[in-house]
Amino acid sequence: MPPFDAPEDDPFGPHNLPYGVFSLNGSGSGPADRKVGVRIGDHVLDAGAAATALGSPYATLLTQPTLNPLLAAGRTTWSDVRRALTAWVTVHREAIEPLLHPLSSVTLHLPFEVADYVDFYASENHARNVGRIFRPDAADSLTPNWKHLPIGYHGRSGTVVVSGTDVARPSGQRKAPTDPTPVFGPSVRLDIEAEVGFVVGVPTAQGTPVPLSGFRDHVFGLCLLNDWSARDIQAWEYVPLGPFLGKSFATSISAWITPLDALEEAHVAPPARTHPLLPYLDDSAETSDGPGGYDLRISVAINGHTVSEPPFSTMYWTAAQQLAHMTVNGASLRTGDLYGSGTVSGPSADQRGSLLELTWNGQEPLELPDGKRTFLEDGDVVTLTAWAPGPDGVRVGLGEVTGRIVSG
Ligand code: CA
Repeated sequence: MPPFDAPEDDPFGPHNLPYGVFSLNGSGSGPADRKVGVRIGDHVLDAGAAATALGSPYATLLTQPTLNPLLAAGRTTWSDVRRALTAWVTVHREAIEPLLHPLSSVTLHLPFEVADYVDFYASENHARNVGRIFRPDAADSLTPNWKHLPIGYHGRSGTVVVSGTDVARPSGQRKAPTDPTPVFGPSVRLDIEAEVGFVVGVPTAQGTPVPLSGFRDHVFGLCLLNDWSARDIQAWEYVPLGPFLGKSFATSISAWITPLDALEEAHVAPPARTHPLLPYLDDSAETSDGPGGYDLRISVAINGHTVSEPPFSTMYWTAAQQLAHMTVNGASLRTGDLYGSGTVSGPSADQRGSLLELTWNGQEPLELPDGKRTFLEDGDVVTLTAWAPGPDGVRVGLGEVTGRIVSG
């Protein structure tokens, strides 16, 4: 029997069960009004109320205003809770029907308290495109370190916002090479970066690196992430310390966190390694958790018009390698740490994950139904969606991440 009248191939069926945090429309939306929810079709299950109604030992863990306690609980509990939820939405569906709310009747909130935020640069196609655009005279479009370590930087966790939040156009300094002096004003080259975000659950003590084999013990799940980027601010400020105010004004994530347990059919091998890797990054050996890549098919739409379909399977560095690298110096993890994959760009022109690449730095405008676009205009709505292969050919839907640009 299909769950709750949803079609059997619903990408948010009982095989998926992503987690979020919601409040009921018409009630308050403060911490006391927020509840852990699990999406099933076009509904959200009040997970804490269901656990209480069914006498589950996880009632306290799920009766919370954020996902942080669940994130901290660890891999065994994550699997146990998921197994219980699967039973509730199938075997016990009559008991939990009154605890389902239509998505249209709830407000979705940032699902966890973001601790540290790191962003990587793991797509070879993206890195080469950026190299060709900004360093056209370089012998190699990749920097010498690129194939030896996952390049990243620390971003600003306090400005991570949930899908649906408006994004104000940032102001800052910019200076084109031909300008005599810098000017200040609203960014005129506001861009997107289509990425996948990984959510850390189990923390570590300082001084304890996480090996590749520890990835699933520490990382709970993933979400879509849009790393909004002001290219003009970025271009003037980034030498020599990297991204700063051109990125830190906002980062959007989806309201739903897909547990890695829902993505067992989506494992794929990453691209062939062209350079030998140091042992802490060497993922050539088989592991019981399967290969480190994920087959996620992303779509990027501007005002409802699809402009790109980046394939996550093309990412050179895996999330496990990124976790190993960011802790190899002994840096600790905290519950709620978020790290972005880096812009996802495939090999073809319609698979690029940023307007910088899609318009080749503004030289080749996109033709949209509502006019040409080089970079984003006020009022533009950018939406990332994605799916992954699931059991029996059914798709696993990722929660969308959307945001509208408003004047700053
Ligand atoms: Ca990025």
